[in-house]
This record gives sequence, C-alpha cells and structure tokens, in this order.
Amino acid sequence: MKRIYMDYAATTPLDPRVRKAIDPYFDKAFGNPSSIHSFGQETLTAVETARKQVAGLLHAEPSEIVFNSGGTESDNTAIKGVGYALKDKGTHIITSAIEHHAVLRCCEFMASQGFDVTFLPVGREGIVDPSDVKKAIHKDTILISIMHANNEIGTLQPISEIGAIAKEKSILFHTDAVQTFGHIEIDVNRIHVDLLSLSAHKVYGPKGVGALYIKKGTPLIPLLHGGGQEEGRRSSTHNVAGIVGLGKAAEIARMEMAEEGENITFLRDKLLKQIEQQIDDVDLNGHRTQRLPNNINISIKHVEGEAILMSLDLEGIAASSGSACSSGSTEPSHVLMALGLSPELARGSLRLTLGKYTDEKEVETVADTLQKMVSHLRSLSPFGKGA
Ligand code: PLP
Repeated sequence: MKRIYMDYAATTPLDPRVRKAIDPYFDKAFGNPSSIHSFGQETLTAVETARKQVAGLLHAEPSEIVFNSGGTESDNTAIKGVGYALKDKGTHIITSAIEHHAVLRCCEFMASQGFDVTFLPVGREGIVDPSDVKKAIHKDTILISIMHANNEIGTLQPISEIGAIAKEKSILFHTDAVQTFGHIEIDVNRIHVDLLSLSAHKVYGPKGVGALYIKKGTPLIPLLHGGGQEEGRRSSTHNVAGIVGLGKAAEIARMEMAEEGENITFLRDKLLKQIEQQIDDVDLNGHRTQRLPNNINISIKHVEGEAILMSLDLEGIAASSGSACSSGSTEPSHVLMALGLSPELARGSLRLTLGKYTDEKEVETVADTLQKMVSHLRSLSPFGKGA
C-alpha cells in the first residue's frame, strides 16, 4: 500500500539536499567547534555558515541567531529568559489562549513562580485582536508572546500590528514562528520582534535542532549555564550536523518557498473544495484566508476525530486530530475550545497539512477516502445523521 503523509505540521521529512549537506559532519568533519585546532576550525566554519543562512532568511544579523535544540527550548528560553532578566522591572506577561504548549505550559510555570500572566482570548476565527493586547498592557508588563501561526488551525496572527504596539510601549515581543519559518516571508525588522522561535524539523531539516532569534541588546538570562557556547547564551557542545542541516534547510527555503507556497495553496484549496463538496456538515476551523498555505482543519459533525484518524491510518493516510503533542489524549484541543467549539465538535476535528512532496493524486485519494470513511462511520454511529 502506498502511504500518504498529510501531517507536515507535525514534522517534515528530511530534504535529500539537507541529508547530503549533513553527511560529512558525523565522521569526516567531527571536531568540536570550540576547539582551537583545525578539526575544530572546520566545524566552526560550518556552524557560522549555517548562522548566516538562518539569519538571511529572517533579515537578521548572524550574531542574533542562537542555536539550540528546537522550538520548545526557544520558547522556554525567550519566556523564562526575559522573565527572570526583567523581574525587578515588572512581572506581567501577555500571551494567548491558543499558543503551543511550549509557550502555554511555560507561562503557567511562570505564573506558579509569582509572575502575572494574561491569556488573551481569540475570536471565532482564531485571531488575537491587537486592541486586546493594547488593553492588557499595564506598567508591570515586560513581555508579549503571541505565535506567528497556529499549529492546529493555521491562523496567521497580526504580528506586525502587535509588534508595533509592543515597540510603542517599549515592551519586549516574542513570537513562536515554528510553523512559519521557511514557509512564509519573515522580516524581523518589519514585524518588530525582539525574540523569535524556530525549529528545523518543520522545514525539511533534522529533528532536535532549532534557533532563537534574539535582537541585539535584548536582556536575557540563559536557560543553560556551562561552557559558554553561543556567546554565553546557550551552553553545550554544538550539534554540528543538526545546525548544518538547519542552515541548508533555510537556504533551500529562501530560494524555493515562494513557489512552493503557491503550489501547496493550490493543492490545499483543491482538497478543501472537494471535501466540502463531497461531505456535508463539515466546518472549516480558523480563518478561511488568513491561514498557513498548507493547513486544513475541519470539524466533521456526527463522527469522532479519533475514529476518522484510525480509519485513515488503516488506509495508509497520516493525518492528525489536533496537535501531535496532545494526540493520545481524549481531551478536546485547547485551541478549538478557545474558538468556542463544543467539546463534541472539537473531538470531531481533523487536521490535514500538506507539504512540498504532496501531489494532486494524493489530494484526490484523500478526499475520496475521507468521504467513504465518514459515510461509513456515520452509518455505524448512534449519533450518526438520522439516528
Ligand atoms: N511551537 C509550535 C507552534 C510548534 O508547532 C511546535 C512543534 O510542534 C513547537 C513549538 C515545538 O517545537 P520542537 O518540536 O522543535 O520542540
């Protein structure tokens, strides 16, 4: 059976060009970049090339890129790092109710440590209202953390407006751009961010490596203390192969993401149209246009999302019913609940995320299989239509 992968928001396969770039850094070029000798200098050069490649995609300075283990570490470093650095100035943090758990759980932890956290609500379409951000700011506010695009429903947040508000009030602004880095254009200067999280495995790079953009001069206490790598901002021996992979993935994205985005949007729209035509009682979650090019998140009435997922998996189709991190849990997604969906509808949700290896044939197969699956499940379900 040919398997179809439609879960690119969970992770992406390695681009073969990234694999080729990484290959020498496991054995041939294995030196520690902190070593003075030629083995070290060789890998130091590779790390610094990757830093330029990542910075280039963000329109940042290479010295503003700090390599680490990925999105979760970046989010934690930004929030805890700024929180502890500025705690004498204020203890108020603003975030949203639909952040990834890497931000949400971190903010909950900060609240348990005496910080005051505002979790802003979102509208029915999953967008944070910049005027709510403005209203929530007070004299103790030290940090605003609002994600660039949501990993479950794909909504793009008005981060330029939020960034402008933060700048005007001289408050630091962090955005989790794990789902947008390498997929849509980001200019850190235009969106006025001070900190930005990214991860390699969402952009055809390896897992376990990412980076935090830290604008020059941003006060931050590091999460890891040790050998002082990354100019003391993140100690631990560099994951050279991973960093080279992230750099290569960024370079490829810089050249190809515009065209890739157009292709994926075309396929995504085709898939959504077919689903909406072939299956009734389907609602699109999130904003219809202000969303990531590759994301479809739908609630299918009268069926359980988990049942659809399992049936699709038996047919070789990989999708998701929310974020991968919370799958396996029967709790409805916090994102869908924040949109105001009932727990039943939230549980009947399905996320299909496309990528650069998705083709038209796969789109047709998924739409047709889903239609058959839903009508079968509805006929069995005591809550099925007409039951
Ligand atoms: N933030 C968002 C929006 C994500 O989608 C993810 C991954 O699912 C993360 C953070 C965590 O990134 P990582 O898996 O690199 O720790």
